[in-house]
Amino acid sequence: MSAVLPGLQRAFSAGPSRASQRPIRARIDLAALVHNAGVARRLAGDTRIWAVIKADAYGHGLFPVAQALADAVDGFALLETETAVALRQAGHAHPVLLLEGFFSPEDLPAVHHYGLTPVIHTPAQLQMLAASPWRPAAAYIKFNTGMNRLGFRAVDLAAVRQQLLDLGVRELTLMSHFAEADTAVGIAAPLALFRQAQAMLELPCSLANSATLIRYPEARGDWARPGIMLYGSSPFAEIPACQLGLKPVMSLESRLIGIQSLEAGERVGYGGLFVAPAPLRIGVVACGYADGYPRQAPLGTPVAVAGCPSRVLGRVSMDMLMVDLSAAPAAQVGSPVTLWGEGAGGVVDVDAVAAAAGTISYELFCALAPRVPVTWQ
Ligand SMILES: *Cc1c(COP(=O)(O)O)cnc(C)c1O
Repeated sequence: MSAVLPGLQRAFSAGPSRASQRPIRARIDLAALVHNAGVARRLAGDTRIWAVIKADAYGHGLFPVAQALADAVDGFALLETETAVALRQAGHAHPVLLLEGFFSPEDLPAVHHYGLTPVIHTPAQLQMLAASPWRPAAAYIKFNTGMNRLGFRAVDLAAVRQQLLDLGVRELTLMSHFAEADTAVGIAAPLALFRQAQAMLELPCSLANSATLIRYPEARGDWARPGIMLYGSSPFAEIPACQLGLKPVMSLESRLIGIQSLEAGERVGYGGLFVAPAPLRIGVVACGYADGYPRQAPLGTPVAVAGCPSRVLGRVSMDMLMVDLSAAPAAQVGSPVTLWGEGAGGVVDVDAVAAAAGTISYELFCALAPRVPVTWQ
């Protein structure tokens, strides 16, 4: 087994030894996480819930998140066998779903021994299983209903099921993942395809990510797989998270480390991208793209300073970004800044920051840099 556990570095390395006087911090609100799991639970009804905690729990810290969610969900879904084993060794007895299954025959002893549930999505995995004495008791069969990423086609499903049964893998679930649950296109066509196959195979099913769970009650299935909603973000571009009853979990906070008073016509930052139209006070924030803040964030990206709304000015640099202080006259060196979430600087919707930067909150969370100290509370 590898000594390096993917996705665990933050949980292992964040701690007093990494504390820094540089003022940037990420704060993880575990009560908000549990609240959001409650929202998912109410939507799910009798459907059981896999909490998706891949990618170090979307950058929020695998172990603290798993521990906080232990009583709020029915199982954990993630990617690496090694990470699943680490959860087991930390005492978690929950079902664990491996969303991409196993990658190599070397995964199989641990999959068997620790009772992990792999997703089977390609014939190569069936060959690995057939050649190994180590087989799981349970597996998910992935049906490609149109995403064309992972999964078998409808015509192959019955044979896959039979091969798994012949290999002694008896607890089977049919799963799919929708490409457009969060867009106007919706899930009608892939869901119809899925229901046809499911009726033929007579297997329990798992379909719903956050967007599907929220928008399509008819597709809750037997096990849902919410991820982003647990972390307090909206899966929909047009609906803010607060309207879905979700609370932000990660707050990225820092402070002003400098102030400049500009004359009209003076320029700000690399490339002089911003030109002051009039005399202007600006603040310099200890946060840059090496902390995980998106370099693509353009002029006007929302930020909050000393309780006042503000905006990013000029180009985000590696360690700093500049903000407009016209609406925050009391701001000075040391004033708190909230980059996203809820902090001493104010409240900033991470989805608004992501939209301004042309990305999604998932990417911002996952990109939080290892140099940012994290606290869980
Ligand atoms: C990541 C993932 C999810 C969770 O999706 P969200 O949009 O974060 O809710 C669910 N299912 C699969 C297969 C995934 O890869």
